[in-house]
Amino acid sequence: MLVSAKEMLTKAKSGKYAVGQFNINNLEWTKAILQTAQELNSPVILGVSEGAGKYMCGYTTVVGMVKGMIDELGITVPVALHLDHGSYEHAKKCIEAGFSSVMFDGSHYPIEENIEKTKELVQICNDLGLSLEAEVGAIGGEEDGVIGGGEVADPKECKMIADLGVTMLAAGIGNIHGKYPENWAGLSFDTLAAIQDLTGEMPLVLHGGTGIPADMIKKAISLGVSKINVNTECQLAFTAAVRGYIEEGKDLQGKGFDPRKVLAPGVEAIKATVKEKMELFGSVGKA
Ligand SMILES: [Zn+2]
Repeated sequence: MLVSAKEMLTKAKSGKYAVGQFNINNLEWTKAILQTAQELNSPVILGVSEGAGKYMCGYTTVVGMVKGMIDELGITVPVALHLDHGSYEHAKKCIEAGFSSVMFDGSHYPIEENIEKTKELVQICNDLGLSLEAEVGAIGGEEDGVIGGGEVADPKECKMIADLGVTMLAAGIGNIHGKYPENWAGLSFDTLAAIQDLTGEMPLVLHGGTGIPADMIKKAISLGVSKINVNTECQLAFTAAVRGYIEEGKDLQGKGFDPRKVLAPGVEAIKATVKEKMELFGSVGKA
């Protein structure tokens, strides 16, 4: 069964750990993440970007696959299916399709418009028992072709959005999607602390979890981050493992060309990455 992310994140915030959001791209990805969460008895959030949703033939296909898999694999840990960086229209589409959680990214709107649209979605999500993530201060790097500048959010604007009744809040604190550049300035912990002071119990979300050093992740969790998004790192691990299989010529041996065999090392690499992250975030055994 899919659940809203509210309870798992409330527990994470009070328990001083974070739940990982791992983005999915296909069946292999979804299976690897769900099985790892179950093995480690960890709650998990499956992230779906608009682009990945389109790639997987639409949101109803995604809901059908995830629900079927939870059932067939006997997954009993809490699983939230979450739209990542959704537009207002796509948030509504995902709600209709049966997602248990959505993110409305209104960070590119003026704050008044972000508030207006977030307010409407708060109402809809509350009525249906779904969780809603909002964003203040665009997060740097590229996500589905959208390039942000790596802003640092205004804590007062964070407080304004948090007060609307969203479930969790993503705030730019110098984090970036994708690989971090050599000259990256690091996370702004002063900003994070100021946001946490103003927003209190609100679980905070750290996007762009790939490549942030472990000590910074731990410090961010201690300052109120309860959800960390991981996407690029699974992609890098998957592709490197599949490349290794082919470079070693294994696809040319016997039935090595079988796609299930070709992708298997990639699946194992995703599992290892997810395990490493869940251990770092402290969500193991917290289901
Ligand atoms: Zn993001």
